[in-house]
Amino acid sequence: MATDVHEIYNGPHENKADNKSKVLIIGAGIAGISAAEFLSKNGMDDFKILESAHRVGGRIWTNDIDGDLKVEMGANWIHGIERNPIYQLADENGLLQLRYKDKGLRHRNIFMTENGDEVNAKVVKECDFTYGLLIQQCEEFYQMGMPTPYECESVGGYMKMEIAEKLELYHGNDRKLRDMIFRQHLMQEAVVSGCNDLDDVSLSEFGCYEELPGVHYTIPPGFQSVLEILLSKVPQENIYLNQQVRSVNYGDSAGDENYKVCVECENGEKFYANHVIVTVSLGVLKAAVDRMFIPKLPSPKVEAIEKLGFGVVDKVYLHFEEPIVAPDVFRIELLWEEDSFIEDERAPNLADTWYRKIYSFEVAHENLITGWLCGKEALYMESLSEEQIANDCCNVLKKFLKKDIPLPTRVIRTRWGNDKNTRGAYCYIQVGAAIQDVETLGEPIDINGKPVIQFAGEATHPSFYSTTHGALITGHREAKRILDLYGMPCSQ
Ligand SMILES: Cc1cc2nc3c(=O)[nH]c(=O)nc-3n(C[C@H](O)[C@H](O)[C@H](O)COP(=O)(O)OP(=O)(O)OC[C@H]3O[C@@H](n4cnc5c(N)ncnc54)[C@H](O)[C@@H]3O)c2cc1C
Repeated sequence: MATDVHEIYNGPHENKADNKSKVLIIGAGIAGISAAEFLSKNGMDDFKILESAHRVGGRIWTNDIDGDLKVEMGANWIHGIERNPIYQLADENGLLQLRYKDKGLRHRNIFMTENGDEVNAKVVKECDFTYGLLIQQCEEFYQMGMPTPYECESVGGYMKMEIAEKLELYHGNDRKLRDMIFRQHLMQEAVVSGCNDLDDVSLSEFGCYEELPGVHYTIPPGFQSVLEILLSKVPQENIYLNQQVRSVNYGDSAGDENYKVCVECENGEKFYANHVIVTVSLGVLKAAVDRMFIPKLPSPKVEAIEKLGFGVVDKVYLHFEEPIVAPDVFRIELLWEEDSFIEDERAPNLADTWYRKIYSFEVAHENLITGWLCGKEALYMESLSEEQIANDCCNVLKKFLKKDIPLPTRVIRTRWGNDKNTRGAYCYIQVGAAIQDVETLGEPIDINGKPVIQFAGEATHPSFYSTTHGALITGHREAKRILDLYGMPCSQ
């Protein structure tokens, strides 16, 4: 099912003479596609989607590596159930049935030290509990409107301060073990937040991200199957692949009396429309904001783009001839010893340290495990050969599992930092930014009281930024804005 997306939408519509439409959507990620689906199902088909890549989906990308074996290069989990439109789509269309069937087979997360010793579950549970309380405290600064302590403006600063205090109750190995568990949790949190380090994440705004109730599901037929459901309601001929937008001219010189905006692509092709919904990632906006919009965007919008954070998160998949962990193990949590390299800005010898940012390996399929990492180590990993990654990861596994591990037969890794169509992973509220910046980013630019340049995409949702459901909702939001303008009734 997932490959169809590549096969059906495969090529620019070079011969299409009619480059004019009421609405132009830039980007065929889930925000762009959900905007198109919403317009279409509510009776407006006069739109086109311009997509830079040779495929649709953006940061939703299921890669078929071997028949039935699918790997998620981007979005992995449906985050929560209640009020989650992605969950609703997946559930209503039977995409989660396999998940229900297999539930519980692999349920054990083992916490391992570099010596290959498994940590007592009671200690882990204790640390989990304390860590959970501390994260909750971080969220409460925003949720309760409390001032943050003057000495720390970041989540990292606060967590490290509080953890150091808790650790004072312990000595020797007890303390060392707990310290390693807390640091492992912080590394995972950095990946969840999409930053290099939690020192980058604003403490005062941390609680504005809303966690939806319910468990986190993967989608056995692939995350891309959610997209295909939406795509089935979008006329295929409205989607233009391999069309990288260079400029969006909404000034007086746009060049057509009936259409307010002229969008020019890198290949010189021009498209005209009255409303443009921009859904490119915050990373692309950061890189292009100075030259993409004519005239320049208003300064509050530019400042919001500059202030918000957009980090790198990557995954490494390792495929083996046979399973490397027991049938009940879901995750190997890696408890790294304190390493002066990582803390020491002067010694960024990433060749020797990049893999220490991997905080766990998770079983994705029987013979396939995956590790996540973020920040500068992820960016460094993107530059390595697959052979090097295989060697480094294999050594990590040998050490933590204290047994011989064969080299993986295949390595698949993502390169979101170097992907010109994304330039990172997802948005976070950086120290110095505020939730108002997300709201500002999502505001349309009006001309004569009508929205002309609109913004959708995960980074424009004030409480679900960084997620697929956030992105989907913003696509609907901007489509509805247009339908409302034309007095067209709409249903969800
Ligand atoms: C590694 C990783 C893991 C993730 N895990 C999860 C998860 O588990 N759960 C979850 O909910 N979310 C997850 N996310 C986040 C989620 O994938 C995104 O929030 C969501 O897919 C963003 O959708 P979007 O439509 O806003 O942007 P995108 O998917 O980035 O879509 C934008 C589109 O614009 C196109 N484009 C860019 N520049 C141009 C241009 N100049 N001209 C034309 N087109 C252009 C791009 O090619 C892209 O297709 C993850 C992301 C990553 C990277």
